[in-house]
Amino acid sequence: MIACTYMEQGKFELVEKPKPEISDSHDAVVKVTLASICSSDLHIKHGSVPRAVPGITVGHEMVGIVEQVGSDVTSVKPGDRVTVNVETFCGKCFFCRHGWVNNCTDKNGGWVLGCRIDGGQAEYVRVPYADQGLEIIPDSVTDLQALLVGDVLATGYWAAKISEIKYEDTVLIIGAGPTGLCTLQCVRLHKPKKIIVCDIDENRLNFVKKHYPEVLTAYPENLREFVIANSEHGGADVVLEVAGSNDTFNMAWQCARPNAVVTVVALYDRPQILPLPDMYGKNLIFKTGGVDGCDCKEILRLIDEGKLDTVPLITHTVTLADIARGYELFENRRDGVIKVAVKMV
Ligand SMILES: [Zn+2]
Ligand SMILES: [Zn+2]
Repeated sequence: MIACTYMEQGKFELVEKPKPEISDSHDAVVKVTLASICSSDLHIKHGSVPRAVPGITVGHEMVGIVEQVGSDVTSVKPGDRVTVNVETFCGKCFFCRHGWVNNCTDKNGGWVLGCRIDGGQAEYVRVPYADQGLEIIPDSVTDLQALLVGDVLATGYWAAKISEIKYEDTVLIIGAGPTGLCTLQCVRLHKPKKIIVCDIDENRLNFVKKHYPEVLTAYPENLREFVIANSEHGGADVVLEVAGSNDTFNMAWQCARPNAVVTVVALYDRPQILPLPDMYGKNLIFKTGGVDGCDCKEILRLIDEGKLDTVPLITHTVTLADIARGYELFENRRDGVIKVAVKMV
């Protein structure tokens, strides 16, 4: 089979590989129908994920059909249509039992798929701990509707869930890329009084205005003043930092009111400075990134009920053979791209 493979820093290539096989009784092999390209794939390509193993198949956001299961897999069977979770977790360790599956202590726990073991930008993928890592897609939900469930939508759902959002709150979301837009959808489920979305990109803000007319949009320039003018207590009650660029961490805490929750969803390319003397007295609560992707069933239910819809985010589709074009589009943000789906046939 053909697999999009991390060769070395700066280089992904389509490589012929054998079809994956069950290697543990908790594994499943999934025939991928749709995968997507994620900014974390680009982080691997650019060398900012040192854990990533050269030679692995990339891709960690996909849907498919179960082909084969190990003898200990009980929740799915061959023929089931499933979403694949970005995270691998055992479901039994201390962290898993608390729902902190990102920190699963299994040797393959956390984000390994498409990073340390072969991922899903390929015709088939082996999924360890399939009972935890796969979720059956309801018949009424299409593959395209379910494509982002395992990663960016799970991230948005988790970010909104941990941010302690209340009805009277003004919530600021920094970054309107794919994860920012998923975060926005999930924040809306918590029904805060006001939502402000900030981005540097006019196209992205226009997308927000078109699809969520009740949401306020702002550019980074004078963001703090804008947030203060549009909130009741001198800043946002909750800030979600989903951009991960050079200035956005500072922007996040500076726009927060005292005692606010600041949730850092972003994955940064370089270390950030926490200027404690400058924020002394603000009594902020920081929550740091690393999705606990264990709510996929609930997310699929919300999609089925029409409360979440990420289809408009998938602006382009390429075939696996043409995946380089998809990467080129996504990386250079051409043609109004938000998300690229990769069709296997
Ligand atoms: Zn990702
Ligand atoms: Zn675990």
